[in-house]
Amino acid sequence: MSCVFSRGGSSLSVKSNVKATSGELFILGSASGVPTKNRFCTSIGVQVGGELYLFDCGAPCSTLLYRMGYNPLDLKALFLSHFHADHIADLPLLIQTLQLKRRREYLEVIGPRGVERKILKILEFCYLIPEELPFEIRVREVDGSQVYDSGNLKVLFFETSHLKHYQQYLEKYPDISVNAIGFIIQVKTHRILYTGDTARSWLRHTYSRVRPPFT
Ligand SMILES: [Zn+2]
Repeated sequence: MSCVFSRGGSSLSVKSNVKATSGELFILGSASGVPTKNRFCTSIGVQVGGELYLFDCGAPCSTLLYRMGYNPLDLKALFLSHFHADHIADLPLLIQTLQLKRRREYLEVIGPRGVERKILKILEFCYLIPEELPFEIRVREVDGSQVYDSGNLKVLFFETSHLKHYQQYLEKYPDISVNAIGFIIQVKTHRILYTGDTARSWLRHTYSRVRPPFT
């Protein structure tokens, strides 16, 4: 996992537990495949304009949100780079938390092609039956050609080759997905590159120099 910051004119703070007014990026977890004594699995938050966004939800991001003073009910959208456990293991607990807190507003979950099928399987496996949730989950599958724009936050997507290794198993396991994406996140004049995992280290350097097609 890597994050690259592209600096602009105003302030986008990067802090562990202090909220900023102009926009804030915070790291919940940054470990690789194995959590360590001091680092949790991957999850990155952005709070701007009273809205909360999460990029991946490695465990225990739900707990960490509370510990760092954020309210999961403020979550507007969850972006998933891919489905390795260190990037999505807290997903069912996050959804269950929103269920028990009686969230009403819909939640957007955005990920690579195949994400809708995987989300439904995870929810079903954990008894998070869509009909019993007090809120709607709107899943959006993206590739490298789309842009997310909420007004406060814009995201450009790009595909990575991280999961290509699994193509050899597609015939036997047709439901696995070999799609993975990274994100160029823009808040005000700041751009942030979050690759998720990628098999090629040059990718982050390439995309950190690319100006997203939005202003
Ligand atoms: Zn991975």
